Amino acid sequence: MAQNHHFLIITYPLQGHINPALQFTKRLISLGAKVTFATTIHLYSRLINKPTIPGLSFATFSDGYDDGQKSFGDEDIVSYMSEFTRRGSEFLTNIILSSKQENHPFTCLIYTLILSWAPKVAHELHLPSTLLWIQAATVFDIFYYYFHEHGDYITNKSKDETCLISLPGLSFSLKSRDLPSFLLASNTYTFALPSLKEQIQLLNEEINPRVLVNTVEEFELDALNKVDVGKIKMIPIGPLIPSAFLDGKDPTDNSFGGDVVRVDSKDDYIQWLDSKDEKSVVYVSFGTLAVLSKRQMEEIARALLDSGFSFLWVIRDKKLQQQKEEEVDDDELSCREELENNMNGKIVKWCSQVEVLSHRSLGCFMTHCGWNSTLESLGSGVPMVAFPQWTDQTTNAKLIEDVWKTGLRMEHDEEGMVKVEEIRKCLEVVMGKGEKGEELRRNAKKWKDLARAAVKEGGSSNRNLRSYLNDIACITQ
Ligand code: UDP
Repeated sequence: MAQNHHFLIITYPLQGHINPALQFTKRLISLGAKVTFATTIHLYSRLINKPTIPGLSFATFSDGYDDGQKSFGDEDIVSYMSEFTRRGSEFLTNIILSSKQENHPFTCLIYTLILSWAPKVAHELHLPSTLLWIQAATVFDIFYYYFHEHGDYITNKSKDETCLISLPGLSFSLKSRDLPSFLLASNTYTFALPSLKEQIQLLNEEINPRVLVNTVEEFELDALNKVDVGKIKMIPIGPLIPSAFLDGKDPTDNSFGGDVVRVDSKDDYIQWLDSKDEKSVVYVSFGTLAVLSKRQMEEIARALLDSGFSFLWVIRDKKLQQQKEEEVDDDELSCREELENNMNGKIVKWCSQVEVLSHRSLGCFMTHCGWNSTLESLGSGVPMVAFPQWTDQTTNAKLIEDVWKTGLRMEHDEEGMVKVEEIRKCLEVVMGKGEKGEELRRNAKKWKDLARAAVKEGGSSNRNLRSYLNDIACITQ
């Protein structure tokens, strides 16, 4: 039945959005569907491993920044969003209308976060649409509760950092630090909440709303099955990470990785990892957007040097396009020379993260807990040291530490700084041979096995995706 499908997929132009959407594309194509992947001219130009496989085509549009990209954290993001909405809507209207004249017109639009205009266009043109939720199901639930009756409760409770927030159906309670940062008064990205609200409201207006969730049923049983999200059907189809990596095949055979190039890195980090003992390396990366202060970077550097563990650290290069002034280059760190001469450490500006995480030498991942990074770490059985910064990362850290018990969250001081001693302590526990370290590794292995089983033939995510395709086929017949 999938042979009759032609999906149009559109995402916000960020690496964390495009990666899971490309992996989803790959799954659809492997089940026989045809996909047109829509993205901005700039982002398309930065894709490496541009997949050329039968059944896939790309369509590009201008967001007004063909030579560069507006990042989500930029100050003038609100004006960018309105321009992106205007141009994106126009593009979507034209491409949907012209597809109607073709032999194989679109049968469904798949869209990701903060694109509430996309389902509106599809609706006007009578094209079914489905939201691909690229964060945890728990995060969806929290937003749903916030927009439906629990808004005041969450706001009031979150004023006191020690208060426990209990949400019906979730077997664990949350503190304000565990909530997605967009719900907190201190949040400065005020445009994000109305956009998410609209997106969830639009789902409520549909007769039979479905949300495809980039998670694994076994990871979030309560969030998927026990939380009342009205008539919305949550369908777990993840983890959307390269299947070569999940299948345990050679992860370098990642011909459909969908990485966006940040740096043309010819680095030899894999050879470097090859030279290290099993489970001996700390991998440190804070994703593509999070910006840490220079002081915080110094604390991390000192802790890594003092700990004696081998480490591979991704420090983005602020001289490169898209990077922000406040970002710190490795050459600005006071212990740079020490870092450079340290045989135990390696700093790179970019790496293929899935490749690194699946390397046998990996002992733990110090992460900002972006959802993709979290899934990639769970999928590779690597325990985590959690250092969440904003958006959903705070909730993901809660899941990592208290629900999956596969990592530790670092505590900060009154000034919001995580100090050397705390970093070292967490690293020593997670990397160590003590009871806690063993427990974290045991759990990490359990989630890895579940993630891999879910996407195999007959696994939960595989079954769910097939059944979604059948449902969509019935609607569009
Ligand atoms: N990533 C990578 N190499 C790096 C840093 C990040 O390949 O050096 C990828 C990572 O594998 C993940 C994505 O970039 O798929 C980051 O997404 P995530 O949701 O973890 O964080 P975000 O960047 O959106 O905050």
